[in-house]
Amino acid sequence: MDLDLLLDTLVDKGLRRELPTREEALAVLATSDDDLLDVVAAAGRVRRQWFGRRVKLNYLVNLKSGLCPEDCSYCSQRLGSTAGILKYTWLKPDEASKAAAAGVAGGAKRVCLVASGRGPTDRDVDRVSRTIEAIKEQNEGVEVCACLGLLSDGQAERLRSAGADAYNHNLNTSEETYGKITSTHTYADRVDTVQKAHAAGLSACSGLIAGMGESDADLVDVVFSLRELDPDSVPVNFLIPFEGTPLAKEWNLTPQRALRILAMVRFVCPDVEVRLAGGREVHLRTLQPLALHLANSIFLGDYLTSEGQAGKADLDMIADAGFTVEGTDTTTLPAHRADAATGGCGEGGGGGGGCGSGSVCGPAAETVPSPAEPAPVGQRSGPEADPVAAGAGAAGSRTDLVTVRRRGAGTDLAPNA
Ligand code: SF4
Repeated sequence: MDLDLLLDTLVDKGLRRELPTREEALAVLATSDDDLLDVVAAAGRVRRQWFGRRVKLNYLVNLKSGLCPEDCSYCSQRLGSTAGILKYTWLKPDEASKAAAAGVAGGAKRVCLVASGRGPTDRDVDRVSRTIEAIKEQNEGVEVCACLGLLSDGQAERLRSAGADAYNHNLNTSEETYGKITSTHTYADRVDTVQKAHAAGLSACSGLIAGMGESDADLVDVVFSLRELDPDSVPVNFLIPFEGTPLAKEWNLTPQRALRILAMVRFVCPDVEVRLAGGREVHLRTLQPLALHLANSIFLGDYLTSEGQAGKADLDMIADAGFTVEGTDTTTLPAHRADAATGGCGEGGGGGGGCGSGSVCGPAAETVPSPAEPAPVGQRSGPEADPVAAGAGAAGSRTDLVTVRRRGAGTDLAPNA
């Protein structure tokens, strides 16, 4: 399809909240670097229609780090991880509240409370409930999102009663490739938790991780599945290939491809909070400001197990690019979504994310997977096995940009906010 016609069509559909076709979404990912600024400008029109020039800041607090029994290949906290990340058990409510306060003081409107693990016990839910209450008491107007893994019946309702505003549990990748990434739980488990969160009246947050060796079709599949689940927010993570994880060699992303992926997500989910999440500094590098024309939300400061750029640099970037930090007096979502009992990309459904984004739950484990481990998507056979052939583009390893978090929650050092 002619590029001008494609982009005009996608802008019209985005302004009307109409779902693009799969072919149109795939065509965005297939555009050339020569066309990049046209693609960003078109998706930027959709972003401005629904979110103006506002950027929402979110702040991660890793309540419990490492020691997970699950085997998510991208995660530094996984079973068998040899990544040298911080490992600690549950922060006390006042410790978590102190960490959250640093993010709020830095301009964060939402605090994301994340814990490693398959899912919470009822005792864990009690503990997190006390933490939510402490944070809400000490930080007026702050939104709290919990990200604790797979939920059992009744747990979402208890978190909602404790004051949680949202629940995150990411789909991460397409249903077809999910089994290559994780063997200890299924894609259907993840969908179920998103739906539980949604049904309990929590704002659903669910997103993806790009750069795991997936094909363009996989990316379009997961984003279309997200639209169907209808979360209010969609975090877009770019894999941080931690040494010590099975995906350590998966350096598949260029800054240009990362922007094309964000543009595709914006066109498919025009009126939801698209959050630029883990891996932005590593993969977008000096092109980060262009991504603000696509995403309307970012994480401030550090990630769960890796360091982000300085919080002050985030704020300077937003100001220099001509955007403004969204205040607590502004409703993030457009009125038609904010007024609805449930939010989302367009159609009805569940939502939610969870431990699993590249930002949330970082990577870990062996560089070469053992036979018992799921093979990274990029190592599977077939026409989509080669990430370059699949449209990923040439990308080089930038291990110099991956720094394990050594400050903030779980340490005696001041957080980055
Ligand atoms: S993503 Fe979550 S469930 Fe998976 S290994 Fe990491 S901490 Fe565990």
